[in-house]
Formats: sequence, C-alpha cells, structure tokens
Amino acid sequence: MNFSGFDEENINEIKALLRERFGHSPTAFVRTFGCQQNVSDSERLRGVLAGLGFGFTQSYDSADFILFNTCAVRAHAEDRVYGQIGALKAYKKARKNAIIAVCGCMTQQSAAAKKIRETFPFVDLIFGVNAAHLLPKMLCELLTGSERVFNLQADGEIAEGLPINRDGDLRGWLPVMYGCDNFCSYCVVPYVRGRERSRRQKDILREAEDLIQAGFKDIVLLGQNVNSYGKGLTEPADFAGLLRRVCALPGEFTVRFMTSHPKDCTRDLLLAMSECEKAARHLHLPFQSGSDRILAAMNRGYGREHYISLISAAREFMPDLAVTGDVIVGFPGETEEDFLGTLSLIKEVEFNSLYTFIYSPREGTPAAKLPDHVTHLEKTERMARLLRLQEEIAARKNEMFVGKTVRALCEKSEKDGIITARTGQNQMIEVPGGWEHVGKFERVTVTASGNYLLKGEFAN
Ligand code: SAH
Ligand code: SF4
Repeated sequence: MNFSGFDEENINEIKALLRERFGHSPTAFVRTFGCQQNVSDSERLRGVLAGLGFGFTQSYDSADFILFNTCAVRAHAEDRVYGQIGALKAYKKARKNAIIAVCGCMTQQSAAAKKIRETFPFVDLIFGVNAAHLLPKMLCELLTGSERVFNLQADGEIAEGLPINRDGDLRGWLPVMYGCDNFCSYCVVPYVRGRERSRRQKDILREAEDLIQAGFKDIVLLGQNVNSYGKGLTEPADFAGLLRRVCALPGEFTVRFMTSHPKDCTRDLLLAMSECEKAARHLHLPFQSGSDRILAAMNRGYGREHYISLISAAREFMPDLAVTGDVIVGFPGETEEDFLGTLSLIKEVEFNSLYTFIYSPREGTPAAKLPDHVTHLEKTERMARLLRLQEEIAARKNEMFVGKTVRALCEKSEKDGIITARTGQNQMIEVPGGWEHVGKFERVTVTASGNYLLKGEFAN
C-alpha cells in the first residue's frame, strides 16, 4: 500500500502506534448516512482502515475507531447525525482511548463543521469528502500527540488504487465521477462535493473488471450527474461510450447507473442502453417538479415538455423500460397550480416508483433566501396526495407483470426461505427458495403484485 507519500514502513509504524494505544489489534465501526456515493466512499475508507490493520465491528459499542460518514442534503439527515454523535459522549468518557471521527458532506459546510467541532469536543478527527487516501497521515498525527485533527479540504485529485472493502458481494458501486457543477438552487451538493471530476476510463474499466472477477453481478455506475461524464478529461470520453465499454466486458452481469440529469441525457445514451444487452432496462431520471415556473426557479435547465419527450424517446428505444424519478414537494413559492403540474406529469409519465422529498432549506443555497409562504401542513398534505397517486400507478404497473416470466438476479433476503430477485427493470420479486440461487440469474414467473414488491416462483 502507498498513500499520499506513506510507504510500507510508515504503515507499519502506524500499525505499531495503534497496537500501543489500544493494546490489541484495532477495530473500527463505520456508519454511513445518505446516498450511494457515500456508501461507495465508505467502502474506500474501510479499505484504507483494513490496510492499517483494522478489523470491523457491526456496532460502535466495542470499536476503537468510530467513523461517521455524513450527509448534508436535507436537514433531517443532519439532525440524525448530530443525535448520533451526541450519543457517543458517554462512550468516549468510558473509553478515553477510542478515536471518534466525522467526515463527509456535513463537514464541508463551515457552519456544520464549526458546530461539530464546538458542540462535540470529544470528536477527535474531522475531515471532508474524498479524503480516504489522507487517513493514514491524519491518524498518524493523532497518534503522535495532536489533540484533535481537522482536515477540511474539498475538491482535490481523485486518488486511484485505494484498497476497497465492499459492503456486499453482488452489487458493486463504481464511481465514474465526483462532484457536481449544476447548482440546482435548492441543493447543497455542489458546495460540499466540489467541482465535477471524471475518473479516467481505464481506471473505471479496471475496477469493473476487478468487480466481475470477484463475482459481482450488478454493477452500478455512480455520479451526481453521470451524463456529463468526460468533461475535463484529456482523452475524449462521454457517458454513452463508457456504458458501451463497461457492457462489452466479458462475463455475466448487469450494468445500472445513477444519477442522470434530464438536461444532459442524450439520445445517444438511450441508444447505447437499448443496444447493450447488459444495460439494465431502468432509467432513473429525477424531474423534481412538473411546473416550468418552479423548474426555472430550481435552475434545472429544462422544462416539463423536454422531460416528457425524453421519456417518450427512451420508451420508443426500449418499450419495456422502467422509469423512476426524484421529486421535491413544497419548493418556495410552489402554488396549488404548480403542484397540480407535478401531479399531471406523474400521471402522464407513469413512473414505476418515485423518491419523494419535502423541500428542506439548505444554508448557502440560493433557494434558502426565497420567501416561502407554503405552510408545513400544506406541504405534508401535498406529499400525501402525491404518494396516493403514485401508489395507484405503481400498483397498476406492477399488476401488469403478473403471469410474466422474467430473468432476475437472486439476492439474499431478510426472510427465511425467501430470495429476492432483482429484474433488469430494478423490480424486486420475493421468491421462495434456498440460498443456492443467490448470485445467479434465474427465470422467475411473477404470481402476485403489490405496491412495492412482486411475488413469484422459479420457472422450470
Ligand atoms: N445528483 C442527483 C441527486 C442529488 S440528491 C440528481 O441531481 O438527481 C438526491 C435528491 O435529493 C435530489 O434529486 C432531490 O430530489 C433531493 N434533494 C436535494 N436537495 C434537496 C433539498 N434541499 N430539499 C429536498 N430535497 C432535496
Ligand atoms: Fe444537486 Fe442538482 Fe447537482 Fe443533483 S444535479 S447534485 S440536485 S445540484
């Protein structure tokens, strides 16, 4: 291993310092809040920790090193993090040697970083996003006398070649780009994750090959805005081309991606999806609102007609395509008429499922300064109406699967004797069966449907 100037000898020194501090091989607990990008970042943080000799625990109550990888996208996510950091006070009091660290999106906002620093003096280490490669250096400082270490650099180079300690063994998160340049007016991501940077194709393809070799079957290409992949790279590259190249790798696997942005989603990408057998028949395309007035205030860069025509084009290329989206209810100034525009878009598109959010003002974003006369009650009522509509649509769409036989990847489930099978449309089917199916693509006949889940049996 070699991290930002740390060679084998330095790593061994850190290992010795850790053993000295704890009196045994150290253990770590990493809790991840927020999106898949954070899940992927945590896999790299754990990889580096494993390289330093850490084993992992399932809860914090026996760990020597506790790391919270945080999310800042909505106030609710932040409040959960504050609550959980607060709960560690007693732990640190009882185990003075334990190291408590907080990293990720929250720490990149100066107000939140200040609050963590001042309200929780028992937090030893605070660092930003994309800093896994700096962990050995920061730990070293802490172990050799620094009382607390703060390292809040944003942006930065993409560190390649870090060890990865993955969450599962079937679904592999594969980041293709970091950061976001879109500055949607409500969103904190561009401020906390910095400017868009794409990974080189050869690094992405190498990681995809590693995943396939290790038996991963469900590869998910990740980025805040995968459609603008390639910007700033010296070699010419775009996302449609990247998707084709990943799908062309030998092996039995499917490729999904998230998130796409409607303003950059090209016909070429839809064509690439339709032509690649391994590309899942699933498009996650957030629309956020069905009102042109609100979309403009959100700085989304497209209108509702553009969104609807993209979905029509996608369905022309792939009639069996599943479409999901993100929507925000209660953006400042959203009138009943604007909201009815959102409902009518949902009716027109007929999403398979939706990720729904009540608008949460984020300090430092332009939308947070807008006057907002929509009451919280109105927002929750609108959300309830939206959810009722979406449930009806999903139930109707799910019913259409009953009687069909589909190819699906079998995964473990929480329930005894039940496998969950994921279709190419990212639809989950509960199937009675043993774990011998796990990791295999099987044919499943759908026997019953609900709002969220389908039920089925293995076809002979
Ligand atoms: N980069 C992705 C996802 C970003 S965050 C994209 O652009 O689609 C995931 C979702 O959270 C967003 O799509 C949006 O629907 C929601 N979101 C972001 N900021 C929000 C805020 N301030 N309040 C409520 N929802 C928000
Ligand atoms: Fe946020 Fe918009 Fe960037 Fe998505 S595209 S991360 S919503 S600024």
